Amino acid sequence: MSAQLETPQQLSDLLRLHRTATDEQGAVDVETRQRRLQTAIDMLVDHHEALCAAMDADFGGRHVGFSLMNDVLGSLNSLKYARDNLESWLGPEQRQVFAPYDQLGAQAWVRYQAKGTVGIMGTWNAPLFTLFSPLASALSAGNRAVLKPSEVVPQTVRVLAKIVAQCFDPMDVAIITGGVEVGQAFASMPFDHLVFTGSTQVGKKVMRAAAENLVPVTLELGGKSPVIIGKSADIQEAARRLAIAKGTNSGQLCISPDLIYVPVAAREAFLQAFSATYSTLYPSIENNPDVVSVVNDQHMARIDGYLAQAREEGAEIIHCPDVPLPAQGRKRPLSIVINPPLLSDIMTEEIFGPALVLLTYSEIKHVLQEINSGERPLALYYFGQDAAEQDYVLDHTLSGGVTLNDVLMHAAMEDAPFGGVGASGMGHYHGREGFVEFSHARTVFRGAPVDPRGDWGMLPPFAEHFATAMASQVTR
Ligand code: NAD
Repeated sequence: MSAQLETPQQLSDLLRLHRTATDEQGAVDVETRQRRLQTAIDMLVDHHEALCAAMDADFGGRHVGFSLMNDVLGSLNSLKYARDNLESWLGPEQRQVFAPYDQLGAQAWVRYQAKGTVGIMGTWNAPLFTLFSPLASALSAGNRAVLKPSEVVPQTVRVLAKIVAQCFDPMDVAIITGGVEVGQAFASMPFDHLVFTGSTQVGKKVMRAAAENLVPVTLELGGKSPVIIGKSADIQEAARRLAIAKGTNSGQLCISPDLIYVPVAAREAFLQAFSATYSTLYPSIENNPDVVSVVNDQHMARIDGYLAQAREEGAEIIHCPDVPLPAQGRKRPLSIVINPPLLSDIMTEEIFGPALVLLTYSEIKHVLQEINSGERPLALYYFGQDAAEQDYVLDHTLSGGVTLNDVLMHAAMEDAPFGGVGASGMGHYHGREGFVEFSHARTVFRGAPVDPRGDWGMLPPFAEHFATAMASQVTR
């Protein structure tokens, strides 16, 4: 059997083989886990050029250096971190036995056991990272895995399918290709854990399908990540860092800032500094190899629709850099939409492209009220030097993760969990938490050599003093 699958029937057959092998294998030793991780590492190192060329072609323009940084190195970082740290995560962990059994020689521990096979559905915006970063956690936990890449990037899928088939034993890692129908079948398979990266709407469907088999899910979804620029912030530096972040992948990142709240008095200074940085990074658009294209016409039309509606409803829109819109291709200057109506699409839908919303405010309390009236975002950003305000923001909001005085950075933390909350997802990968996510934490209790319950009158027929003895322990 090849590690490259094309039909749900082939996947179903492979999962049956996986299950038998998992039941027969016993504990998955460190060497097996490291070997599987190393195979993924070697595969990406050996084929990074073909993968980056494919991503460039799929996007219709995505700089090789960026694909290396975001997808190849992002994936390698997760895989190497897992390879180098998993031994210290494995356990077993001794746990405190309750009284009086702790005195009688009972013992207890938690062992982290592989669940079996993890299904991983990736997305197109970070086609390698969204497959291999969760794979790192899944393999570190001793699982087998099947990857389902996004059909939106077909050339990348073609390369991936070929190299996974070349490099992997299908009993370790396999890949299935196909579109929405294969995705639906994938989500309905009896995996031991399922990871889905994508939109909140499709995430609900995936969770519904997984529920049929009681498959636990990790959902890495999206949302409208807000930025709060406090009055104590260095406006120039905040604008500079935000311009750099927003240009990354042309805003096609799950944690890309969507809504930027700026103090009313700082509006002009912020816009000037932001535009200056953005226009220095990207002085031209149409033939600029550093600008990542919007991935396809459908996504281009979606973003254009948000902008047209905001303009019709009277919002001011400025472009960075201020150049005419390209006549062809899907590279676009960044559109900044200023104070659009609260219910316009650009205020309610995830932008996921080269546009953002600038909202001016007078009181931070109202900003938090507005953020909290929406769904829980995947990321939240705060700029400012006021420690009390920073704590106020952290204490009164909830998001998947947070970066303070910078943008995007928390997601690059290998030694900390990455994931959403509420509508932005559930569960996480990265770090020891990723290992725990894909392990079954199995409690083992080893009984005491002696059992004094009879001598203590705790077994039927109960001695007279039994109820009194129990009652005496009902304490505060
Ligand atoms: P999407 O939800 O439209 O599609 C994702 C995948 O789901 C596609 O490959 C599709 O084939 C499949 N699919 C569609 N319907 C399905 C169904 N009923 N059952 C099973 N599978 C189905 O998302 P997208 O456009 O590929 O990605 C963009 C979204 O992903 C954004 O919302 C973004 O924020 C999010 N995202 C999140 C993260 C994260 O780590 N949290 C990372 C990247 C992207």
